[in-house]
Amino acid sequence: VSWSAEDEAVAGTNTDATECKLGAVQLGYWADPYVRLFARRAERRAPEINRGYYARVRAVEMFIHQFLERCDSKCQIINLGCGFDTLFWRLRDVTQAVGNFIELDFPTVTAKKCQIIKRNKQLLEKIANEDGEVACRVGELHADGYHLAGCDLRDGGGVRRALAACGARADAPTLVLAECVLVYLREDAAAALLQLLACAFPKQLLLIYEQCNLDDKFGEVMIRNLSLRGCSAVGERGRLGVAAAVERLRAAGYGGARGWDMAAVWRALPDDERARVERLEPLDEQELLHQLHQHYALTVASQGDLFADIDLNA
Ligand code: SAM
Repeated sequence: VSWSAEDEAVAGTNTDATECKLGAVQLGYWADPYVRLFARRAERRAPEINRGYYARVRAVEMFIHQFLERCDSKCQIINLGCGFDTLFWRLRDVTQAVGNFIELDFPTVTAKKCQIIKRNKQLLEKIANEDGEVACRVGELHADGYHLAGCDLRDGGGVRRALAACGARADAPTLVLAECVLVYLREDAAAALLQLLACAFPKQLLLIYEQCNLDDKFGEVMIRNLSLRGCSAVGERGRLGVAAAVERLRAAGYGGARGWDMAAVWRALPDDERARVERLEPLDEQELLHQLHQHYALTVASQGDLFADIDLNA
């Protein structure tokens, strides 16, 4: 697959995500001591956007917690289209249960992430092996329990090679995470990737967060904004409703799958947490948040029995 201007724009969405997260963290939505190390500046977004980011970070955290609780041995996490996500460091601060954390993105993105990690003691010290060894070569970083590698998720062979180079194990309990990533792939490429993953990891929980229901006026505006920035593939997958997105996961070979739009996820958050977040910034137009939440979904799929009962309200 050759690199295009569109790929450049898609890779650029990571910068935006990181700056928005830093803006929300600075306002107290959630704690992340690492995100500032990855962002040049903080982006101040509208309150409904910040609440949306909060709901996503919190929901992903809740599912990861359930995943970790059920793991019967050291697990692995595979973060697809990881961008500058700080999950590895945040988890490292609270648990030793993750035996291997693998991050994949375009080589241009992993090369930058690699540079940032190398420059920051705070990041590096959580990665270094006991003998302090961190192998870093052209955009890749390999250490005991943390691997960052470049590949194109549309290239199945490349994904397989990257996973192997990162020490992915077929028999380990595996969490595959794809936050705002698959939606940038054309539907056939996303389906092929999901099939590959469903097959490769028989003890697996897959967690996807991305746009959905873009088939209405609000969705058209979201699609137009993304295509103005050069990301023109978003239409296809993003137009799926939650039920159709769940159906795609079953079609890819996953044993169990379910999903919720973020309005449902928001309602499922503990009342006191929602109340705390609502006090951070006033939001006059509740309808705005509701509309935004109806256009993002969290879908989960599982392989094997370990994670079959994982649910939003568990
Ligand atoms: N998952 C991160 C997060 O939630 O903060 C980053 C999300 S960012 C919106 C999308 C990421 O997916 C970018 O880092 C982009 O480079 C990556 N991505 C999109 N298409 C990709 C592809 N075909 N191969 C590898 N990475 C891809």
